[in-house]
Amino acid sequence: MEGAHVLALPYPAQGHITPMLQLCKRLASKSVKVTLVIVSDKPSKPYRTQHDITVVTIWNGFREGEEPLRDLDEYMDRVERSISNHLPLLIDELKSSEFPPKSLVYDSSIPWVLDIAKSNGLYGAVLFTQPWFVTVVYYHVRKGSFCVPSRRDDHPTLASFPSLPLLSPSDLPSFLCESGSYPSLLEVVLNQLSNIEKADLVLCNTFDKLEEKVMKWMEENLWPVKNIGPTVPSLYLDKRLPGDKDYGLSLFNPKVDECLTWLDTKEPNSVVYVSFGSLVVLKDEHMHELAAGLKQTGHSFLWVVRETETDKLPRNYLQEVSEKGLVVTWSPQLQVLAHKSVGCFVTHCGWNSTLEAMSLGVPMIGMPHWTDQPTNAKFIEDVWKVGVRVKADRDGFVRREEIERCVGEIMEGVKGQEIRRSVDKWKDFAREAVSEGGSSDRNIDVLVDKFCQMK
Ligand code: UDP
Repeated sequence: MEGAHVLALPYPAQGHITPMLQLCKRLASKSVKVTLVIVSDKPSKPYRTQHDITVVTIWNGFREGEEPLRDLDEYMDRVERSISNHLPLLIDELKSSEFPPKSLVYDSSIPWVLDIAKSNGLYGAVLFTQPWFVTVVYYHVRKGSFCVPSRRDDHPTLASFPSLPLLSPSDLPSFLCESGSYPSLLEVVLNQLSNIEKADLVLCNTFDKLEEKVMKWMEENLWPVKNIGPTVPSLYLDKRLPGDKDYGLSLFNPKVDECLTWLDTKEPNSVVYVSFGSLVVLKDEHMHELAAGLKQTGHSFLWVVRETETDKLPRNYLQEVSEKGLVVTWSPQLQVLAHKSVGCFVTHCGWNSTLEAMSLGVPMIGMPHWTDQPTNAKFIEDVWKVGVRVKADRDGFVRREEIERCVGEIMEGVKGQEIRRSVDKWKDFAREAVSEGGSSDRNIDVLVDKFCQMK
């Protein structure tokens, strides 16, 4: 069968680009020609990555350096305008090439891209970068079959969804319960499902075993889906993709040597790694409490505080903790999680971070902030039992004693040992899924066949 050429378009945020890029690497390793389209404020000439992916950039409409100042609605507007203007031109240009693309894989947060694909004669495959149990909640909200409780109710009812555990308001995706918070983002997450039945394929960065019950319910009641994850670089899982040791397209600058040299000086399983991903913004008082809590644990810690957040650290903090703590603006997270000195991961429970911790066998302490993170935290603690979740007060404030308690529980307690055993089991399942003949590997084979048949 003749090979296929596929266009791939992620939503331009770190947590969305990396799963798409990793899927592209897997497709390219199975002889599919891949053109990855990145929307950026730094347009560059098309280039080829070491994994044989051609990267083409589309300008996002912001001047260099202007983008971080944007407001979210404006950013999404400009992204939409820029994709709507440039993508059809790019498809047109490629149509006259020797090997024109026949399919487009696009991120579920930009569902309107499917119309561009269809009107230009391409097949459309949508990639979800959040787990199915979150999408199923959005499905019920969208259908109107679920009434959102208020987090502030004194006696909130538990939400019951088919195939999911009972969810309290603080377990639900944040946009649903915090009325009025980010209305445009609520629209984005619900709209992911607006045209899903028209997509030719529905993909997700998860794996079958991780979401067995939800998958079964979805297969019987919704659409057929193909899970292709976890999209963690191959070196950490099946080791089949030569040179696939990191994501390779980082929007931030990781302090590789600083982190690894420091970790090398620490005892096995002794370090608490703390990171809240690329987007979470903490209030000053939350940052101060976390800073105090980490110090109070008595354990060494490696804490990622992004450049835009560093001025919220308590004064003299870095000097005070210099013996025990290393604070960096961005880490090589995979290498950190894989380091023998790391004993646990204090995380915002972003979906990529969750999959990475599970794939590398690191117990988690969930400190979710928004979007799907609270629901991910619920599964981390109660379903997969690979971590604990901090208890916050009504306003989401987490006291220093609570941070100390959770770190102690994982690093020193019996529960920590149970969690470690459980996370090791999930690590094996993750590896199995992407290894030759595993569920995600087989799904990617099906995908390749479908792409090849699309004429
Ligand atoms: N990450 C990293 N270094 C850091 C913090 C995060 O490389 O210091 C990476 C992490 O490995 C993950 C991504 O950034 O792949 C964050 O994605 P996630 O879905 O966890 O959170 P988001 O940033 O989307 O909130």
